[in-house]
Amino acid sequence: MEPYKLQIISKKTAGNLQENHIFLENLQKNRLTCKILDSAKEGTPLIRIGKGSPKIMLTAGIHGNELSPQIAALLLAQKLTEGDAKGTVYLIPFAIPFATMKSSRRFKGFDMNRTAFKEGSLSNEIIKVARDLKLDSLADFHATNPYSNPGVESIFCSKKPCMESYKIAEHINKTTKSKIICHKNAGTLYKGALEDECNLSNIPAVTCEVVSHNGKVDPGSYERSYMQMRTYMGYFGIEIE
Ligand SMILES: [Zn+2]
Repeated sequence: MEPYKLQIISKKTAGNLQENHIFLENLQKNRLTCKILDSAKEGTPLIRIGKGSPKIMLTAGIHGNELSPQIAALLLAQKLTEGDAKGTVYLIPFAIPFATMKSSRRFKGFDMNRTAFKEGSLSNEIIKVARDLKLDSLADFHATNPYSNPGVESIFCSKKPCMESYKIAEHINKTTKSKIICHKNAGTLYKGALEDECNLSNIPAVTCEVVSHNGKVDPGSYERSYMQMRTYMGYFGIEIE
């Protein structure tokens, strides 16, 4: 039996990641990585590893120029397929291959982390998939430029309507010391973040940020992102190396 299943959830986002040399240079190349990279030429890949409960999803590359979490997600795919962790992990290592190829924050002029409520946007597609799969939780991984907003390693969360969003953030903070940035109500600061729209759909969600320059992979940054991912999964009792 194959230890994972790969499908394409949107075709309009297709991109050739081989064209982004900085991205490529930082990857550990192996069969699985190559297969996932190849699939991105068709669109946004969704990888399912494992089965049963809990069911969680990790996403990266909602901002294509934030490379560190996308590299961490590929590493995570590798580790998960090698092990036999419990539950089901869904991974979207690069939400918008085209934007990652171009190292662009935006896709067709839009910031996909401000348009998750908009019918037809890629982030909205992800919400629909998340609802259909009846996920127990979703975490979205980003990288922030130093001295920008937020500019520090952090976890965004909210308390309403999903208190669990805050509890997950607390759990990640305990191990990583990433700063908790908590809003009382989801989606009040700005609209259309993937995390907020999930919380508003009663799928407890957080956004994790590591510090790395846009379009670059600062030393240690993908390792920090990987650690946030591991700690997030640990909240659900899904343990990997
Ligand atoms: Zn971002």
